[in-house]
Amino acid sequence: MANGKLFVISGPSGAGKGTLVARILKRIPQAWVSVSATTRKPRKGERDGVHYFFLSDAEFDKLIEEDGFLEWANVHTARYGTPLFAVEEHLSKGEAVLLEIDVQGGLQVREKFPEAILVFIEPPSIEELRQRLESRATEPQDVIDARMKVAELEMREKMKYDFVLVNDDLETATEDLVAFIESHAGKEEE
Ligand code: 5GP
Repeated sequence: MANGKLFVISGPSGAGKGTLVARILKRIPQAWVSVSATTRKPRKGERDGVHYFFLSDAEFDKLIEEDGFLEWANVHTARYGTPLFAVEEHLSKGEAVLLEIDVQGGLQVREKFPEAILVFIEPPSIEELRQRLESRATEPQDVIDARMKVAELEMREKMKYDFVLVNDDLETATEDLVAFIESHAGKEEE
């Protein structure tokens, strides 16, 4: 039986989810982050099996057919999904399993695992988010504009989450998230 805790970490791209999750992994030894599958192409420096499992459309379809995903969704211009097997394996070891996924996926996880805890990472403001995306300079302007639209839609869903964390100051946000996960990870399932 699964006895680890499942945490969903969502929020607009540029809110700092990835940085926060990397910091959590360093601080909480029994935390593990799931590697998602995606049909998008790898960016420079991204490695298959480390950042994502980069799949073709046909491979992604096959995993859907085999019920291999805990959840999956269309995000921006590609499909992304959480492979179920590894999540179950790590939960069964009692670990705190983190899923860094979008809001559509987060709400699907709640349907399948009602005991999952949903955390929404919010940027200090929409303007700050745009500045972060632009200074990251990994995406062309039209992609940034599209991400800003999605961000505004995602922000409207935050009240469906269990915990909203404003990532204003990275140190403070890290401390708050570590404390939140540690205090919930140890709790027995009801
Ligand atoms: P990126 O392409 O920048 O790596 O990720 C784009 C978005 O996809 C992010 O908001 C991220 O949270 C979301 N994402 C990554 N993996 C998954 C997944 O497995 N499922 C879902 N639903 N969203 C994901």
